[in-house]
Formats: sequence, C-alpha cells, structure tokens
Amino acid sequence: MSPIATQLLIHWHKDHGRHHLPWQGSRDPYAIWISEIMLQQTQVNTVIPYYARFMREFPTISSLALAPLDAVLIIWSGLGYYSRARNLHQTARMIMQDYQGQFPNTRAMIQKLPGIGRSTAAAISVFAFSKREAILDGNVKRIFTRYFGISGYPGESKIMNLLWEKAEEALPITYRENQIETYTQALMDLGATVCIRHTPICKVCPLQHHCVAFKEKRTDQFPTARLRKSLPKKETVFLLLMQNQKLLLEKRPSSGIWGELWCPPEIKTGIDAVSYCQHQLGITVQSPVELPILDHQFTHFKLRIHPQLLQVVSSTLNSHNKFIWVKPSNALEQAIPTPVRKLLKQNFLLDNHKAFNHLTTN
Ligand code: SF4
Repeated sequence: MSPIATQLLIHWHKDHGRHHLPWQGSRDPYAIWISEIMLQQTQVNTVIPYYARFMREFPTISSLALAPLDAVLIIWSGLGYYSRARNLHQTARMIMQDYQGQFPNTRAMIQKLPGIGRSTAAAISVFAFSKREAILDGNVKRIFTRYFGISGYPGESKIMNLLWEKAEEALPITYRENQIETYTQALMDLGATVCIRHTPICKVCPLQHHCVAFKEKRTDQFPTARLRKSLPKKETVFLLLMQNQKLLLEKRPSSGIWGELWCPPEIKTGIDAVSYCQHQLGITVQSPVELPILDHQFTHFKLRIHPQLLQVVSSTLNSHNKFIWVKPSNALEQAIPTPVRKLLKQNFLLDNHKAFNHLTTN
C-alpha cells in the first residue's frame, strides 16, 4: 500500500470509522486482550454483551487468574470456540506467576502466551503500547488480497508470507501521535464495514483508486476460496435423563470438543440407551422417547445429534463432581455448549414441544 493510500485510510477513519466500541479508548492491555480474543471469528454485535459481562465479572488479570475455570466457562457459554476461554484463563495465571501480574509489552513476548497468534499479539501491542506492528486478521487479509490483487488461498504459507510482507510495508511512519493506532483501527473498520465479505461497498472506499480488484472489476474473485471437500458427518446420541423434573448433565473431559463443559451423557448411535444407563451409570430408566434431531456444524465436521428422553425409575449414580442434576431452565446458566442450549430451549422451555409435553403428562 502506498504511503498516500495509508494516509487516505487514516483520514477516512476520522469521519467513517467506529469510535464507540466498549473496548476502544482504553490503554489497558488486559481489556484489549479480552476484546481481541472475543472478536476472533465472532461478530462485534455478538461480542459486546459478552465483553461487558466478562469485564464485570473479571475486571483484572488477577481476578481472572483467581477464578475457577468453570466460572469463566459460564460467562463464555454461548460464544463458542471454548478453547479461547480456557486459554484466557491459563494465560491470566501465567501472567500472574511469570510476569508478576504485568502484561508483557512486546509483540514477541505476547505472542508466546497461550492462544495468542501473531496478529492478535500485534493488535495488543499497537493499542496498549503504541508499538509499530502489522496486523493480519481475516478482515485485513480480505482487504489486502483485493487491494493488491493477490490470488491464492490466504491460508497457504506462500500467500500468507506475501500478505505479511505487504502488511509490514503498509505501516505508516509513526511521526504523529496515535498514528499507528488510528491506522490499525481504520483497517479493522474498513474490513468490517466497507470491504465486506460478499459485496464490498467500493463506492465509499478511500482505497478505490489504488485497488486492483476494484479497477479490474474482480472484487468477487478475492480472497481466493479454499478448495474444500464436503465436511465429514458424524452422528451421536444425547441421553436426556429426567428425574424429578431435573436433567442429568455430565462434565466432559478437558480434551476434545466442548472440553470441561456440561452436556447430557453421550453414547454412540446403535448402543442401547436403557442398557447403557443401567450398566454404565447405575440408573434404571423407562423406554426412551426420540426427540427431534439437531444438526450442528463445526469448522471441520457436521454433527447430527439424536436426543433421547429417558425418565429415571431409580438411580444409584454417585455424582462426584462429574454429574449434576439441574432443572432445564437452570441448565442454561451452566457452562454448556450452544447445541445443548438449543436442545434444551427447543425441548423443555417451549410449551409446545415434545419433551415438555411428555414431562408434564408423566
Ligand atoms: Fe475493498 Fe472495494 Fe475498497 Fe478495494 S475498493 S479495498 S475491494 S472496498
């Protein structure tokens, strides 16, 4: 990007950028870090209420480090990509132990912390410490591939390296105060509001006179999409065991999907639910009632969930800390993944649904 284009972008930001996001204006690396992690793969409007709640519950690094992981997962519940929450918690503890509670202040040091990649580390060093560092998140990759007319999937290392080179070259000379912060925010804002994924609004873009994709009328060709095979499909069965209007939830192991979150017990398709409950859980149940299937898509596969409602007759389950019985409405306040939340709402909390009717007539 030429120095002129960089300056056009900075100038554009004054009148057209976003200036009132809750995490803006702060120099607190902790607050900036939380916002940057939440914004990964998540829309700003979704993040805002989560960010407010998170900062209310855990206003400082030490409060986050001292909190039990379960409390952090509860606040995160519904935001998805839960490894982000686990990494935040681990990192807060690491900063307290290894850095005496002081957030490291260089990109290289920040990048060594769990769950923080080069672009996020750069954004934190720019906004908290005014360091001259280049960012390259998804929005910025889209802008640069269009602006420079770079073909090839941006996830490939060759293309990625080229984009990093361009990002470094485009950085403004920081002879004015806040220049690097404004430029970085301008790039983020342009990607979020103008150079958007499907139909960029080139007519209001400050970069249009220099943009290859715009000049060649090829904005729809950048960034090059990944050649994707269709996603693999998996199926599973969730056992919704009910006793005295309460539902059984099991804490999942820390590795694997939904690590440390609460879910109904899960079995493979084809396994007999009644026998499983009897022999693995020590719970005698009535015959299962099939509930509507729920489909959920992860980044790398599609999951088809077959929920089965099971009324408990008797139980010798010793819950330890691995199992809890909760009312479905209270389960929503636990750290549960999004499809379980959906399942509970659909089947228990709307009075025209099958599980609800079954429970109220039994
Ligand atoms: Fe994106 Fe259009 Fe601006 Fe080029 S001119 S950077 S395609 S919005």
